[in-house]
Amino acid sequence: MRTPFVAGNWKMFTTADSARKLATAAVAGVGQDQRVRVAVAPPFPYLALVGEVLKGSPIALSGQNLYPEKEGAFTGEVSTAMLLDVGCKYVILGHSERRHKLGENDLFINRKVNAALAAGLRVILCVGETLEEREADHTEAVLERQLTLGLADVPTSPDLHERVVIAYEPVWAIGTGRNATPDQAQLAHAFLRARVGQLLGATFASQFLIQYGGSVKPDNAASLLKQPDVDGALVGGASLNADHFLAIVRAAL
Ligand code: PEP
Repeated sequence: MRTPFVAGNWKMFTTADSARKLATAAVAGVGQDQRVRVAVAPPFPYLALVGEVLKGSPIALSGQNLYPEKEGAFTGEVSTAMLLDVGCKYVILGHSERRHKLGENDLFINRKVNAALAAGLRVILCVGETLEEREADHTEAVLERQLTLGLADVPTSPDLHERVVIAYEPVWAIGTGRNATPDQAQLAHAFLRARVGQLLGATFASQFLIQYGGSVKPDNAASLLKQPDVDGALVGGASLNADHFLAIVRAAL
């Protein structure tokens, strides 16, 4: 039985004040209910203050990125130790905005995945095809490549399913208002689960979580989340509105 997991990616939005209010409303809405795992990923400058608001709540704190070196002359970057220090449990890696707007490739993302896991952070690894790739019928090849290279050298252990979450995020559905249909999402998720089974074993394949991300809103969440291989959502835009985010969390029940 997989516990659904809904995470809110606040991207480069919020102010200190709105971040505090958003987190406070999420904490009040979730209460102590742990039937759905919930996390929020605020911008770096607000991690500590949101972490304070989350104290005592089951909502976990997540970073949106990291740099895969322990420390050093890497101006503007953030290490695994820093994320852990401010209370992060998760980190989002391989987000399509970082792949396509900031030029990150699979090898660099894989370094981050391994650095995060070695430090004890849980990873949400995003994979997904562009519209061009989908239209050229390359979806499975892209997912296969991003998954295989992204998870290369990941140390296997019985709790790996707790430490690695995959987010299927078709690039054409992110921030566009155009989401994958439930059938499209299910097909991609089933493919990812089967491929992960070949890479990391059948036990892990049946246990690990695959979130769907791409214009998830309160009105489409239930139909996506009821697909058998859709185990939750990575939510961008709608996570900036507490009522919408909480409605998506409820839809995961
Ligand atoms: C995301 O940022 O991961 C995302 C899925 O964004 P949106 O929900 O706005 O499409």
